Amino acid sequence: MSVEETLNPLFKKIQELKPQFIQRLADAVAIKSVSGDETLRPEVVKMGYFLKSELEKLGAYDIQMKDLGIQPPPVDNPKLNLPPVVLSRIGNDPAKKTVLIYGHYDVQPAGIEDGWDTEPFELVVKEDEDKLVGRGSTDDKGPVMGWLNVLQAHKELGLELPVNIITCFEGMEESGSIGLDDLIAQEAETYFKGVDAVCISDNYWLGTKKPVLTYGLRGCNYYQIIINGPGADLHSGIFGGVIHEPMTDLVNVLSKLVDVNGNILIPGVNEMVAKVTPEESKLYDDIDFDVTELNLASGSDTAIYQSKKEILMHRWRFPSLSIHGVEGAFSGAGAKTVIPAKVSGKFSIRTVPDMDSAKLDKLVLDFVNAEFAKLNSKNTIHAELIHDGDYWVSDPFNESFTAASKATELVWGVKPDLTREGGSIPISLTFEKQLKTSVLLLPMGRGNDGAHSINEKVNISNYIEGTKTLGAYLHYFGASQK
Ligand SMILES: [Zn+2]
Repeated sequence: MSVEETLNPLFKKIQELKPQFIQRLADAVAIKSVSGDETLRPEVVKMGYFLKSELEKLGAYDIQMKDLGIQPPPVDNPKLNLPPVVLSRIGNDPAKKTVLIYGHYDVQPAGIEDGWDTEPFELVVKEDEDKLVGRGSTDDKGPVMGWLNVLQAHKELGLELPVNIITCFEGMEESGSIGLDDLIAQEAETYFKGVDAVCISDNYWLGTKKPVLTYGLRGCNYYQIIINGPGADLHSGIFGGVIHEPMTDLVNVLSKLVDVNGNILIPGVNEMVAKVTPEESKLYDDIDFDVTELNLASGSDTAIYQSKKEILMHRWRFPSLSIHGVEGAFSGAGAKTVIPAKVSGKFSIRTVPDMDSAKLDKLVLDFVNAEFAKLNSKNTIHAELIHDGDYWVSDPFNESFTAASKATELVWGVKPDLTREGGSIPISLTFEKQLKTSVLLLPMGRGNDGAHSINEKVNISNYIEGTKTLGAYLHYFGASQK
């Protein structure tokens, strides 16, 4: 039987179970699993156990609620336990491939007072608008429930799963995935042994009409420049013009890093960037996007580039340097005449292939120190890296992506756009490095879902067709050569 013939009854079953699937999402949304709010930690844990009981019902075994220990500072409660990571298996046939599915069951904070039209933790079904509104509906409870829905549809049909599945559902994603990197490293050769592909459904379509598969993310190296001058904040009426001012030094140095058109001015940085190949350039031709979407998203008419390809390439595959803030500077209203004694400028560089992180740090810090030296200021400087996370790029034509592409085309009737993202999902890289396998980002929701915002929604069609896409992906991937 062809994959499509197998999928026919599966899709029918998913359609038939739609009311139950919406109820499942409603049950999940009702649990206030906000990882960033310590007082709601019991709710996050409850959500982990909700998944455990669902998984049990759906035939998962070897379910392990992995304890990640106490949450490290800063915390109000020094004994606050991290929520468990839910590991489970469905199927263990050595002849089949094994897919690890990752998702997170915690959510961003939400309250009606933030401006929601309805209670954020009550899923509102708006059939006429094709929407399910509620915190977590798209990020990431919708996709996680999508995987459970796939399992349920198979079970009710008596249809064998085409692959072995391992789940890895965490409860701290919105709070930096504390503890997860270590767990993945620990389990790489044990629980996660033999994984053939990792599928993450935790990002979004680029727009609202066309499905996408995501194959790359930029990294981020974050720096600060601390300039120290006088022993205390001073009055410009007394000291202005007679001492070297830290703020003036800092502004001078910061102005050397990047020009107004976003060009990074630090020598050697752009030279590390991989050249655009004709094949890569072609990938951008079909992508559904234009400058009006950028203007809409930024709420302004401030785009540097007007063409689709330039905008997307500069967001996804070229580095950028952003100046974020100055600590220690006067930042209130009014006209205070202070000379700040010590200021710290923060900036970051979004990194892309083939930039070498350590080499970048050296180029940046040496350049900053050299530019400061040219000022001949008597103040002192200290420049440093605060944190870094590497970029990630996958082969969008490997078996896993090909399976996802076929699945998307079958369900949505259109080939997905191959996209990257300008931000980071650090866990993608951790999985790839630790499990030495390929990672696929297969989003369910649309670009306007409002993931961290008010009135978060997932379209009913995305939830149901997305469930079909996840199921079809497993079948196409399972059918490809092991
Ligand atoms: Zn998420």
